[in-house]
Amino acid sequence: MSPRRNSPRRRKGGRRPPEDEDAVFQRVTGAERRENGPDGEWAVRRISGAAATKAYRCPGCMQEIPPAMPHVVAWRPFGDGEDRRHWHSSCWEHRTRRGARFPRR
Ligand SMILES: [Zn+2]
Repeated sequence: MSPRRNSPRRRKGGRRPPEDEDAVFQRVTGAERRENGPDGEWAVRRISGAAATKAYRCPGCMQEIPPAMPHVVAWRPFGDGEDRRHWHSSCWEHRTRRGARFPRR
């Protein structure tokens, strides 16, 4: 006989705290965060200089990001990651103010 019953209850209504989703997302993909901009939602990851081993072309200024330069990677959180792009940190921050053109599919 069990005098106490633990019946876990789930709240109905489909509302989940946002931290929950983020925590799961971070566990799966690393230290990303979500950013919402006028251009939509992005998953963003900061790359340290030590982790930057290749040169990339920044879509904000069309200049190269040399290896060992700390920068930002951003991609659409709903895709498969193939639209990942590497940005200079400052270009990412200012992308919507600058009116950088976004490659759209
Ligand atoms: Zn740039």
